[in-house]
Amino acid sequence: MEILIIFLVVTSILILQNPVGEWINRLNVKRQYKSFLAQETFYHSIISRYYRYYNRLNLEEQRKFLFRTYLFRKAKRFHYIEVSESAEMPILISAAAIQLTFGLEKYSLNYFRDIFVIKDDYHYGFYSRPFQGHVDLSGIYLSWDNFLKGIKGESTNCNVGLHEMGHALAWVNFVTKTEEDKHFKKEFKNFSKVARPIFESMQQGAKNILGDYAGSNYHEFWAVSVEVFFENPIRLRHELPELYKAMTHLLRQDPSVIVNTANKIAA
Ligand SMILES: [Zn+2]
Repeated sequence: MEILIIFLVVTSILILQNPVGEWINRLNVKRQYKSFLAQETFYHSIISRYYRYYNRLNLEEQRKFLFRTYLFRKAKRFHYIEVSESAEMPILISAAAIQLTFGLEKYSLNYFRDIFVIKDDYHYGFYSRPFQGHVDLSGIYLSWDNFLKGIKGESTNCNVGLHEMGHALAWVNFVTKTEEDKHFKKEFKNFSKVARPIFESMQQGAKNILGDYAGSNYHEFWAVSVEVFFENPIRLRHELPELYKAMTHLLRQDPSVIVNTANKIAA
């Protein structure tokens, strides 16, 4: 009887301190962490081969990066269209989402269960121009050859993985509101105070490092800003310092600090 009472008291204290859902979630994460450890080396070998961003993190951050990538990858269903599947594909794609959200608390982009990997540029809807990727109600779409060019740094200022994850992040926070990150939502207002006037000037014809496509609408302005923030941080900081600063606050990270001189600064 005494044992039962102690058990009930301890259990109720635990439940009072942590809402039940959160408690179960923690147990679940702990269990997942064990399975992750068995695959950590494999994840490291793949991500370290392509992600300069990852290679510049310290060991503790690298482990956080890998674990988040593992959880993200596990939570998604990947579909391959006209491209042969490889073990590295879902891991490298998941890593793009983790790079973008690394400073945030929420990173699973939970509305999106399905990620479609397409061989190369494709046509979508009534648009005449080919797509490298897009996000809609049915999922996140990425063309594999463009994705690879982006993570290999072969296309200046372009990284379709980061671009589409940027759309997806805005989507879960502002459209479906299924995974609202308190900090991100609050800080986005401050970002917009700086970003809106720049966007509006681009609509009037002003040119800057973000390129014409960013001026097409505010969603694209955001997604392109994400790409350039990570792909060309030093030049973005130089050309649009207020926008750069607002993004470091919004995403809680500063890629210019961890960029070394080997990173090409495109003219
Ligand atoms: Zn876009």
